[in-house]
Amino acid sequence: HLSPRLNAVLQFIPKSACLADIGSDHAHLPSRAVQEGRIDFAIAGEVRRGPYHQSVSTVASLGLQDKIDVRMGDGLDVIREPHEVNAIAIAGMGGELIADILERGKGKIGPDTVLILQPNIREARVRRWLDQNGWIISDEAIVNEGHHVYEVIHARQGSRTQPLSEQELLMGPMLSSERNPIFIKKWYSRERRLIGILHALRNTEHSDEVLAKIKESQKELQLIR
Ligand code: SAM
Repeated sequence: HLSPRLNAVLQFIPKSACLADIGSDHAHLPSRAVQEGRIDFAIAGEVRRGPYHQSVSTVASLGLQDKIDVRMGDGLDVIREPHEVNAIAIAGMGGELIADILERGKGKIGPDTVLILQPNIREARVRRWLDQNGWIISDEAIVNEGHHVYEVIHARQGSRTQPLSEQELLMGPMLSSERNPIFIKKWYSRERRLIGILHALRNTEHSDEVLAKIKESQKELQLIR
């Protein structure tokens, strides 16, 4: 079975989609999606030799070679032409890397493609790229796994009347209007952590910097109070 994080990514894959999972590592996500009959075809892309071989061996051991094509290559290079897939998942990497993969691979994304993105950190970087490149965030999920909180972003092409605000970029437009308990907990614990750091740094040369961060964070928190 998939982890809560990958399961949240799975739930956003449209039924019967042709999926490209970029940075697939063990190919767990496309394997599960095919096994449960959600999709019939996937590309598992990997840039590193070790994870590529892991993917090949998972797919072979499950007998899914006809349905999952494991390809070695950088980012969206493994997609041969834009209509080869209509869903692209990029999960378990930093937001900078995800935005970079999308930017360099723009030409491989067809007009009806949905993106399912799960940055481990710097979610705002991903949302900013989407907002500036003609994408609408159509859904978001937030899940707890161990001590970590993960966010998943579902996007499709379209234009918005206004760009996302700084708060929406940081906290997510859907998540901040939904305000579920995991979301509330994430932002309150961030505030508590910053306040703890401030106390530890009281009367040191760094305290002004931390105080500014806390004020900023409290401004963000007004959204959910
Ligand atoms: N997607 C899986 C998940 O969410 O569990 C695996 C995440 S793993 C931490 C990140 C994977 O992305 C690694 O296997 C790494 O080799 C791969 N990766 C990093 N940069 C990549 C790139 N430019 N193109 C393809 N894969 C990449």
